[in-house]
Amino acid sequence: MSPAPPLADRPLADAQGRTISYLRLSLTDRCNFRCSYCAPLAPEQPEDPLSRAEVARLVAIMARLGVRRVRLTGGEPTLRRDLVEVVRDVGAVPGIEEIALTTNGQALAELAAPLREAGVTRVNVSLDTLDPERLRAISGRAASLDRIVAGIQAARAAGFASVKLNAVVARGTNEGELGDLVRFGWRAGATVRFIELMPFGLGEPVPIAEVKTLLAAQGVRLEPDASRGWGPAYHMRGHAEDGGRPVTGLVGFIGAMTENFCEGCNRVRVAADGSLRACLGGRERLSLKPLLRDGTSDEVIAGQIVAALAQKRERHDLARSAGQLVSMIGTGG
Ligand code: SAM
Repeated sequence: MSPAPPLADRPLADAQGRTISYLRLSLTDRCNFRCSYCAPLAPEQPEDPLSRAEVARLVAIMARLGVRRVRLTGGEPTLRRDLVEVVRDVGAVPGIEEIALTTNGQALAELAAPLREAGVTRVNVSLDTLDPERLRAISGRAASLDRIVAGIQAARAAGFASVKLNAVVARGTNEGELGDLVRFGWRAGATVRFIELMPFGLGEPVPIAEVKTLLAAQGVRLEPDASRGWGPAYHMRGHAEDGGRPVTGLVGFIGAMTENFCEGCNRVRVAADGSLRACLGGRERLSLKPLLRDGTSDEVIAGQIVAALAQKRERHDLARSAGQLVSMIGTGG
């Protein structure tokens, strides 16, 4: 397939010169969980998310501006009935090289194979705990650890290029099982990434430096590793014992609050309602839905996206904006 003609004379970049090549696109605000740190009180609301055709058009515009990777997220993206078709459409857009998905894993056992077949190459599954009761308490809903584990196994079997497990570390919640999460992940063929809790919902963050100390105390020895994540995440090589056997693998860190998280930012977010957010912590929005619905041309929409990204701030200001933000659910998490 030949690449579509570019809509700008240079790749999408922000005022700091960071190239923007990664779109995080929320497909729905709906979620079957109410995680304490994310959206504990988010009401169920009727929504009017971008349609399948609007998603495909928006991704095509983004690709013509230089976006190469798309992560489908939410809310819980697997609640979109047309998810597999959306993936197929996005995969057919000239210029898109990779489609990733972030999910809570509840529906992954059934969906892993069709999603892989439709073109998803990487899957991140959120998993904060290996304790079924604690999982129910964190998720605020009847989350099933067995189903998540089955989903992770199905993802491995489906042959994704990578399966990652995302764990948000919250004080007084899961600090005691970080080593077990790493060993579980390696056993399942997945890399575990620890995320510093950002101030969207409830809970106290545990700084990444402390997460590393906790890992050492829980039997995971870390050393530097050259492999970088895509964007703000980075990895270290871990060594541990599992059932008396030495084991090794990568451990990822996303120091959203205490580390220089923004330096490597290469992303733009679009929430399910079509609002573009240049920065996760920013309050500025560009509402794309009316433009996609009122006959505005691709060229004009592209111009507005370029202008919005030119305003992207150097660093997020999450520490100061705590309490004023909606939730990861409504942010194109
Ligand atoms: N429902 C999907 C899931 O559970 O993965 C996708 C959406 S969820 C908002 C995306 C990611 O955001 C999850 O890995 C979740 O743990 C993370 N997240 C949500 N709230 C967060 C917070 N306050 N701080 C850090 N990460 C958060």
